[in-house]
Amino acid sequence: MPFYVRLKIFMVLALNLFAIVYLFSLVWWAGAAGLLLSILYLEMIYPRLNFFGAATQSVRNRGSNAVAITFDDGPSVWTTPILETLKTEGVKATFFLLGKNVERHPDIARRIKAEGHTVGLHGHSHTKLHLKGPQFIRRDFDQCETAFLKAGLSHSQIVRFPHGLKNIFAVAEIRRRHYHLCAWGKGVWDSKLPGVDWIIARSLEIQPGEILLLHDGDGVKENPDRSQTAEALPKILQGLKARGYEFVTLAKVESNESA
Ligand SMILES: [Zn+2]
Repeated sequence: MPFYVRLKIFMVLALNLFAIVYLFSLVWWAGAAGLLLSILYLEMIYPRLNFFGAATQSVRNRGSNAVAITFDDGPSVWTTPILETLKTEGVKATFFLLGKNVERHPDIARRIKAEGHTVGLHGHSHTKLHLKGPQFIRRDFDQCETAFLKAGLSHSQIVRFPHGLKNIFAVAEIRRRHYHLCAWGKGVWDSKLPGVDWIIARSLEIQPGEILLLHDGDGVKENPDRSQTAEALPKILQGLKARGYEFVTLAKVESNESA
């Protein structure tokens, strides 16, 4: 996690703590309300906190050496070399696709599925959902599902929210559509282009049971640069194999683990 993100989180938490202590000093119920709101806010911004339903956060129940490789924000032109590497290394991964990028690259989306990887939804527009209402969220998932169907992708069972941000409306909407929510354990920040060596080193820090998050596309740019991720991937997979890891996808882990 980059330093500026850590600093931001620290500042928000410190301010929050100060506000709660101040509210308690005024009147106890204001402090209690502040504490409750803070916990709900943490649930919105922290992908691995899920008070309103089960979510997959790890693959520990799939074996002592299981890890899962996941890609967000695709498909893009960089998905193709990534698929080539996965094929060469004999590894199956999980791709959380954006509806708008499926519309741009339906052939690549079909290829992901045809090559035996697991496909999940990542929303249509990559809009952060934690401050959105039910109408917006419903429309975004409608558009995403339509893009998947038009591309010939069969019904997906899993969802990962953009940036992992959520609220009770977003969680209720995916439950209504019978999707299972997926988080991740190890973020690599590869979309910030930190360098191939950095991406490899950070990825190889993964622990047994963790879900690795990489990016084969982008939430905003139509033609992002994912050359570093594509270049790092062979060494990541070979390194993980050398450490004795086995690769699983998030296809069959629904409801096995809750927050
Ligand atoms: Zn994303």
